[in-house]
Parts: sequence; C-alpha cells; structure tokens
Amino acid sequence: MLATLGLSVATALVASGPLAGTTVVLDPGHQLGNANFPAEISRPVPAGGFTKPCNSTGTATDGGYPEATLNWQVSRQLRARLVDLGASVVMTRTSNRADRWGPCVDVRGRVGNRIDADLKVSIHGDGSYAAGARGFHVIAPAARAGWTGDIARPSMALARSVRRGLARSGVPVANYIAGGDGLDVRSDLGTLNLSDVPTVMVELGNMRHPDDARRMTSARGRAAYASALLTGIRRFLR
Ligand SMILES: [Zn+2]
Repeated sequence: MLATLGLSVATALVASGPLAGTTVVLDPGHQLGNANFPAEISRPVPAGGFTKPCNSTGTATDGGYPEATLNWQVSRQLRARLVDLGASVVMTRTSNRADRWGPCVDVRGRVGNRIDADLKVSIHGDGSYAAGARGFHVIAPAARAGWTGDIARPSMALARSVRRGLARSGVPVANYIAGGDGLDVRSDLGTLNLSDVPTVMVELGNMRHPDDARRMTSARGRAAYASALLTGIRRFLR
C-alpha cells in the first residue's frame, strides 16, 4: 500500500513538469570504442537512398579528449535536465566505452520514428583543421521527396531554436561554415535522412580550436552547452 502510494506520487510529480508528455531523442555521436572496431564501423548501411559507412571514429581535441566522450557527457547532462522537467528521453546509445562500437547511422536515424518522438538532436563536436576555425553550427536535413520532405520545415525550426539557445548563451557561431549564420543544410547524413521526426545535428564547436577545446574539456563549459541546448529544445516544443 505504502509502496503503491509512493509510486503514484512519484509518477504524478514527473507528469506535472512543463515537458510532461513530450519525448526527446538524444543521439550522442559516435562511440568511444569505434576506432577499435574498424571492420564493424566501415560496413555500409542505408543512409537515405544511398549507403554510408556504419559510423566513424569521431574527432578529438589536440589534448586527446575524444569527441565521443564530449557528446556523451553533454547528452547525459541534457537528459537529466529534460527529465527534471518531465520529458521522456531516449538515448541512441547507453554507454561510452572503449570496448563498444556503434550503433550505426541507420539505427540512430530511425530511433525517434517508432516511438513518435517530438524531436531528435544529434550531438557532435567538429574536427576542422582550417586555420582559426571555431564555433558551433547546427545542421538541418535538406528537403528530399520520399525521405525528408516531410520533416525539413519543422527541422529547420528546431535548428533555429537550437542556434538561438547556443548563441544567446555566448557560444560563438562557427566562422568556417558557408553563410556564417551557424546554420547548415545537408542531404548526406543518414542520421538526419532516416528520421521521420524533426531532427538536427549540432556541432558544438571545433575541437581542434584551443578556445573551443577549453570550453569542451571543462565541466562548466559542458554544463553551459547542455543548458543552451535545453533552451533551444524548450523553445521548439513551445
Ligand atoms: Zn561527430
């Protein structure tokens, strides 16, 4: 009796949050062990009318902090914030381990579909060697009939919301992406192409730039990324 009461109270508390009833998919890009499984991650998989390798190793800071770990740590913080507000959160991977690989981009692409998620955000850090390249950008899927024609518009709305959240928190906008407005549109990413729910991929910064790397390797910086992403997601859900 007491246990039942406790459970129902807990459920009521969760359900009362401002994001109750919403489902968010978070996709922490790559997996820490991908480099240890070259055959597995290079296997071709469907990516939206063409095939691409299952996954890639991801990049790292010059100091050796791996992108997979950045993506994982920011995603975990963001998940906790979303759950606190009542959202249901599904992650595309549940570990960050050197002895694991994947999932492949086709699996990541479809995770939100069968659960009819409200949105999916794929979280990455970039690895550009262009001189002085720094800052974040948000990638939305191009509108391709039969694939992303149905989600391109809401995905762009999500991209703008996420961009606003990041820019307002003081994260610099990428200075090395065409357009210079922190938005990009791509048709080559299976993670976006296979989604039936609004989706974006965010590159939080350039891991090869010392200023971005400093932000990414500090707990405070990662918390700021998570807060900024939360702001963008909440704005979209409203
Ligand atoms: Zn990546």
